Amino acid sequence: MSDSVVDARGREGGCLCRKIRFAVTGEPDDPHICACPHCKKRAGGPFQWWVGFPLQGLKWTGDEPTWFDTYPGETRRGFCPTCGSSIAALDYDDNTIIGINTTALDDQDDPCLVPVNLNRLSDAAPWLAQPGTKHATGD
Ligand SMILES: [Zn+2]
Ligand SMILES: [Zn+2]
Repeated sequence: MSDSVVDARGREGGCLCRKIRFAVTGEPDDPHICACPHCKKRAGGPFQWWVGFPLQGLKWTGDEPTWFDTYPGETRRGFCPTCGSSIAALDYDDNTIIGINTTALDDQDDPCLVPVNLNRLSDAAPWLAQPGTKHATGD
């Protein structure tokens, strides 16, 4: 697999019930996980996995998500009102990048999507593996 080819190709995604569908193109930007209180509440889990794409390349091919202002006037998060899947985030003052919940992408098995940062580490659940912590081997 060639990374340069991966960056140029289109990617598709959507929600669990497939009402919301989208396509994005362009290079993935800053794949990261975030453990802020808003991400945890939305996820129903200890963090969310994010990746940015150029807003210009975004196309809603199904329904558009329902938007909720997590920080009114600053940031809104998009979700499916039917199945509850977290889909996206947009900053009102940034019209260049769409934040995509990586879990909404159809194909998440891509080295370009591996998180390079854990944001809001101080808000993470204390039992969550921290950088430098050895992961269990599954035995
Ligand atoms: Zn849905
Ligand atoms: Zn967050």
